[in-house]
Amino acid sequence: MLQQTQVATVGPYFERFLAAFPTIEALAGAGEHQVLRLWEGLGYYRRARQLHRAAQVIVAEHGGRFPRDVDAVRKLPGIGRYTAGAILSIAFDARLPILEANTTRLLARLLAYRGEPASPAGSKLLWQMAEAVLPRREVGTFNQALMELGSEVCLARAPQCDACPVAPLCATAAQGLQAVVPPPKGKKAYQARHEAAVIVRRVGRVLLVRCPEGQRWAGLWDFPRFEVHAQNPRALKRELVEGVRRQTGVVIRPGGHVHTLKHGVTRFRITLDCYDARYVAQAPDGKDARPPMRWLRPGELADYPLSTTGRVLARFV
Ligand code: SF4
Repeated sequence: MLQQTQVATVGPYFERFLAAFPTIEALAGAGEHQVLRLWEGLGYYRRARQLHRAAQVIVAEHGGRFPRDVDAVRKLPGIGRYTAGAILSIAFDARLPILEANTTRLLARLLAYRGEPASPAGSKLLWQMAEAVLPRREVGTFNQALMELGSEVCLARAPQCDACPVAPLCATAAQGLQAVVPPPKGKKAYQARHEAAVIVRRVGRVLLVRCPEGQRWAGLWDFPRFEVHAQNPRALKRELVEGVRRQTGVVIRPGGHVHTLKHGVTRFRITLDCYDARYVAQAPDGKDARPPMRWLRPGELADYPLSTTGRVLARFV
């Protein structure tokens, strides 16, 4: 849960998750639907699905006990070298290194490594360093201290060198290279994108689609949603009809504009316009190629894991 997400955000999710799934068996036996519903709003939904699959592997292949062998841990879905090192060193005091954003910056600075830390050469060097500095005991505590030092003292923009306990060992501080080690990142180039979501109504129910594998919110449910390019109302109506039909096979009659949401996903800055529509017919063709879809009563939406924007739009149903 904490990958890419702050502790303050994770807290309530963690509590709810553990209350629902107090054991690995409970998580393994849950439906993906329930797991995603509890994760809803936390983002990076791949983590939830991988955690769920990892629990199933642990039950099927390790008798429900979390493996202690690093190779077995790294075979679990979603677990790379950093996560394996963090779990095994913190939980079992295994002598394994970790390297994430904060320790990468800290170690690069201790070495005054001027290359790109994420490059193959940089990554190799920093992993070697992370391994070389490990103590014999209390490795988990040591690894957590490194992360803490990186996140609280060796800050990206304004490292607190005067308060830093490892300043006497630091080649970057000695050479005054804090501003260039690690090399500052260029600004992200954002791309504007216009999307439409459609609330399709049919005798007291609305249409929801399950986001397909490989897409932004795979496994979650959403209103039919797609990119639009139209410059005038007539062209937009055509795009709405075509978009919903392409995605669901449902023929609609578009209605009015309901709401606009602005949000960012990866490099996209998205303007999402939501429209009302009435169901007209269901096209018989192409059923097998489409993602699963459901006609739900408004009260049933609470039981479904929705995309973040889908949950906001559910208020307009
Ligand atoms: Fe970072 Fe400064 Fe400490 Fe070096 S002395 S590790 S640059 S905070």
